[in-house]
Amino acid sequence: MILGKTLESWYASYPLIRDLVALQETTWFNPAVAPVAESIGDVGLTAADVADASARLTRFASYLRRAFPETECSGGIIESDILPVPHLQQLLGERYGQALQGALWLKRDSHLPISGSIKARGGIYEVLKHAEDLALAANLLTLDDDYAVLDSDKARAFFGQYKIAVGSTGNLGMSIGIMGAALGFQVTVHMSADARQWKKDKLRSHGVTVIEYSSDYSVAVSQGRQQAESDPACHFVDDENSVNLFLGYSVAAERLKKQLAAAGITVDAQHPLFVYLPCGVGGAPGGVAFGLKLAFGDAVHCIFAEPTHSPCMMLGVYTGLHDEVSVQDFGIDNVTAADGLAVGRASGFVGKAMQRLLDGFYTVSDEEMYSLLALMERSEGVRLEPSALAGVPGIARVQADQQGYLARARLDRQAIVQATHLVWATGGNMVPCDEMEAYLAKGRELLAKG
Ligand SMILES: *Cc1c(COP(=O)(O)O)cnc(C)c1O
Repeated sequence: MILGKTLESWYASYPLIRDLVALQETTWFNPAVAPVAESIGDVGLTAADVADASARLTRFASYLRRAFPETECSGGIIESDILPVPHLQQLLGERYGQALQGALWLKRDSHLPISGSIKARGGIYEVLKHAEDLALAANLLTLDDDYAVLDSDKARAFFGQYKIAVGSTGNLGMSIGIMGAALGFQVTVHMSADARQWKKDKLRSHGVTVIEYSSDYSVAVSQGRQQAESDPACHFVDDENSVNLFLGYSVAAERLKKQLAAAGITVDAQHPLFVYLPCGVGGAPGGVAFGLKLAFGDAVHCIFAEPTHSPCMMLGVYTGLHDEVSVQDFGIDNVTAADGLAVGRASGFVGKAMQRLLDGFYTVSDEEMYSLLALMERSEGVRLEPSALAGVPGIARVQADQQGYLARARLDRQAIVQATHLVWATGGNMVPCDEMEAYLAKGRELLAKG
């Protein structure tokens, strides 16, 4: 019995669960998706909240360019570029035996400064927000000050009285840890068993306390939450529920809008934008998707990608049970090489808030992510970590269109030819060379097998 029903009766009401349980690659387009004008209110946050987050990041720019010189060239703004990937598109078409229409692009959050993953958006934003709140309350700072003053021994001594804790599979811990430590906070990262050794080593080298668990992400998070609750000086970054993380991610969209315009790319009903977002607990892709829907309205189609072994968001939204159900409830093991995506239970906040805004969900096998990792390197020379490849098959899933999504979305042939498909590459730049070589070797071997 699973949540009071037999497996057979789950299959009868939700036939795709059978494919998820069999670890088959699965695609589901959300029939409940509604026009943005109707559904954006579900989120409980507005464009003003995103603008507030954006303004906060601008206030911190002078601090960031001082504390992290690698952000100097972007004026202290943590942003990544977009890149057309036509060679990859060609090889993908051959791999999937499909002519792929439109233009395929890559969003390189893999190369974000400071922590080399999409977590450099939300994770760093939440630390900065917390630091600002504390500093303003203590009259250490005013909103009109040059925030570069925070790169000082006085500020670090002040923040040193406070603690930050977070549970993570790796990348969130890296962002929170590196940023928090730079400001002077005492940071503790509770790492799940699947976290890479090099990420733990790197954090310790920054003076971060790393506590290791032999269990998965959910346990690391709840341990972190428990430890923080008993300590009023400790701020817990709640990856499963944090509105601040979500808002930090959402700022990406307005910046993307400028990048697309600068590249001469139109986005409107006849030139739709498809965005493929790797999903773990859901905060990062959810926040980005929220920003995208605000920025582009119904012209943007947001599709989440998960490992076949960790399809928590698809399961949660598909069944409407959200965080009341975990993949483990169905015997799915949540074991995957895709670092940030090894999450068995989705954020309840994101799933509920976004259930009428997200256009589709699909799963990808680990073998496919490795193969695509090698294919990406061969075709475009871009090196990514396995999770960052989850968005790559999206263009083919949409165009295979098993469930009539394109017709439902009123996309005619012309619009499909004129579409832009953006793969959100969420991590990889900080992977050590030997580790990257091992990923590539594994991917090339799988590619050679076909
Ligand atoms: C965390 C992460 C994601 C997904 O973010 P969630 O907020 O957990 O959904 C995707 N890719 C990478 C590389 C990540 O680290």
